Amino acid sequence: MATEEQWQAIVGNEGTYDGVFYYAVETTGIYCRPSCKSKAPNRSNVRIFADASAAEAEGFRPCKRCRPQGVRLPDEEWVEQIVRYIDRHYAERLTLEELADRCHGSRFHLQRTFKRIKGVSPMEYVQQVRMDQASERLVTTGESVLEIAQAVGIGGAAYLTTLFKRKTGLTPGAYRERIWQDRRHAETSEGADSANPA
Ligand SMILES: [Zn+2]
Repeated sequence: MATEEQWQAIVGNEGTYDGVFYYAVETTGIYCRPSCKSKAPNRSNVRIFADASAAEAEGFRPCKRCRPQGVRLPDEEWVEQIVRYIDRHYAERLTLEELADRCHGSRFHLQRTFKRIKGVSPMEYVQQVRMDQASERLVTTGESVLEIAQAVGIGGAAYLTTLFKRKTGLTPGAYRERIWQDRRHAETSEGADSANPA
């Protein structure tokens, strides 16, 4: 945990503390130099390390902006950081600006680099994850369309229905019914097979 002095250095982007300690943020998995110009993290999520390799040993990755190891983080790894962040936080309200901030890069650079590596923009990827999660919940839970829309960060039932129709041609309810019917059918024929072995 950060001492008051360390915390002040982080909040004030104090270059004089660079090399003295490094700080990592639990929610992003990224570590920085004290002088990093990134948005101040939540203090309770901060972990302090004496050197970069200690942060690496705990699974933290270097920040793209302040380059705590003095080397540039490859774009592929940066994009992976962002993907991991989205996979954990898709249910929250996310904007391109928020993502760029959390993952320590500019909006423009994030948009361009992500698209080059993943083939879709960051916000398109967010939407894909939400839709995958929604499909999963439709068939594995009895939650209502509104409950699912809220749980995956899409917000409203009508909007989820629109997205769902665009993707599958079906409403969420019709999609759920079709999958469940297929399953019941599969179960019934399995049951029949075991009752009447050939
Ligand atoms: Zn940084």
